[in-house]
Order: sequence, then C-alpha cells, then structure tokens
Amino acid sequence: MVRVENVYKSFGSTEVLKGIDMVVRPAEVCCMIGPSGSGKSTLLRCVNHLEKINAGRIWVDGDLVGYRERGGKLHELREKEVAAQRRAIGMVFQRFNLFPHLTAIENVMEAPVRVTRLAKSTAKTEAAALLDRVGLADKLLNYPAQLSGGQQQRVAIARALAMRPKLMLFDEPTSALDPELVGEVLDVMKGLAKDGMTMIVVTHEIGFAREVGDTLVFMDGGVIVESGDPRVVLANPQHQRTKAFLAKVL
Ligand code: ATP
Ligand code: MG
Repeated sequence: MVRVENVYKSFGSTEVLKGIDMVVRPAEVCCMIGPSGSGKSTLLRCVNHLEKINAGRIWVDGDLVGYRERGGKLHELREKEVAAQRRAIGMVFQRFNLFPHLTAIENVMEAPVRVTRLAKSTAKTEAAALLDRVGLADKLLNYPAQLSGGQQQRVAIARALAMRPKLMLFDEPTSALDPELVGEVLDVMKGLAKDGMTMIVVTHEIGFAREVGDTLVFMDGGVIVESGDPRVVLANPQHQRTKAFLAKVL
C-alpha cells in the first residue's frame, strides 16, 4: 500500500530525512517511534505530499506521490492531481483541528459535501454512521467546545474516514490528551485496524504498538535505525540507539 524508497528531505541546510526505505502492506499497522526531531512527522507529511521530498520516491496504492514519471524523469503533478491523491489518505494530528463553528456531524460531513459533492442527505447518513462507529452517536449535535479532548479526537478520526481513505496516517493522536482519555481513542484505532485499514501511526504508546502494530519502526536522526515485529524489537532491540530510547520510554 505504501512504498518509500530512498527518501531525502531537507529544510534549508538541515537534512531531516536521510535515505528512508519503508514498506507498509495493505491492512498493515505500522507504528513509528523515535526521539523528538528524528523526522517522524516530516516522513508522514511527505507520504501525503504536504512536504516535497528532495530525492527518492513514495508510492501509495501503486501511485507515485506528487509526481508522474515519464522517460525516467519526474514531473510534478498539478495541484488538482495532488489534491486527489491526498483525499485518499486520511490524516489525524495531535491537535484535533475541528471546525469550531460546526457541530460534530457537520464536521464529518463537510469534506464529502464540499469536496466530493455528495448529496447532503447521504453525507449526513454516512456521517452519523461514522460517529456511531467511533462511539459518539449521542454527540452528533455537539460543537467541539462541548466535547472532551478524546471525543474531539474521535470526531477527527470520523472526519478523516468520511473521505473513505485507503490509508490513514496518525501523528501522535493521543499525546495532547489527558491520560484518562487516551484509551478511548486507541480503542477506536484498534477497531480500525481490525477492520483492515492500512495505518501508519507515530506514537509514544508502546503498549498500542506492541498489541496492534504489525511492524515497529524506530527512527533516529533522519534514518530508520531498525524495524520489525514490535514484540521482537521491543523485547530484543538490536541497536544501541534503540536500546537507549526504549530504556527511556518503557
Ligand atoms: P517530535 O517527536 O517532536 O514530533 P519528529 O520526529 O516528528 O519530532 P519532525 O517534526 O519531523 O520530528 O522534525 C524533524 C526536524 O525537522 C526537526 O529538527 C525540525 O526542527 C525540522 N523541521 C520540521 N519541519 C520544518 C520546517 N517546516 N522548516 C524547517 N525545519 C523543519
Ligand atoms: Mg512529530
């Protein structure tokens, strides 16, 4: 579903990604951990072309992200084509970024109605079903300010799902939450994983990675230091840097 090949990314003279190779198969949950500044968010943002890579290639569902290849040369896609690619990829951030002036159900309906011109009645039915799926059937008409952080994040997940993505990217979806609200969001993500969604999850929740992850990727300094079965990597890290990081977070 996702193939990342020898990807480099710099901001000015700061090299942030230094040759990333990664594969995520359909229905796989790939968890990413690593110290602050190691490039995890940047990599996620490259996967949906919010950042342009300087070298390498990324494919999502067989399509080259952001470019078309012709005669061995890469040509940048037009804005419209990039937007179409991005629609197939759901993204959930640390901050929920809901529209404050829209209710939960309006937040979930917004993109299907505005972007894909789905009929309002259909969008509403689907949005209600999605909010039910994330456990918020009784909060459809609440505004974000009337929801807890965990509920807001679940609305954000439902909103991403409304575009029927092939792939979901999560960037520390629970790190802004009070500890007692983390579980409800992780449970929704677990459900998604069980339903076969392909997911890349940057997280500090080692328990989630161990239980739900098919692979665990440890990044440090812009490279993937090691990756593999989460249970194996966590129990028996091969590299000193992984050991040192895990010693701090476990
Ligand atoms: P954290 O765990 O703190 O979220 P991270 O692994 O997600 O860290 P990134 O956000 O990818 O790390 O950042 C990697 C490096 O790239 C950092 O040194 C950061 O300062 C730099 N960086 C990220 N975005 C930009 C930008 N838009 N302009 C300049 N530098 C950037
Ligand atoms: Mg980050």
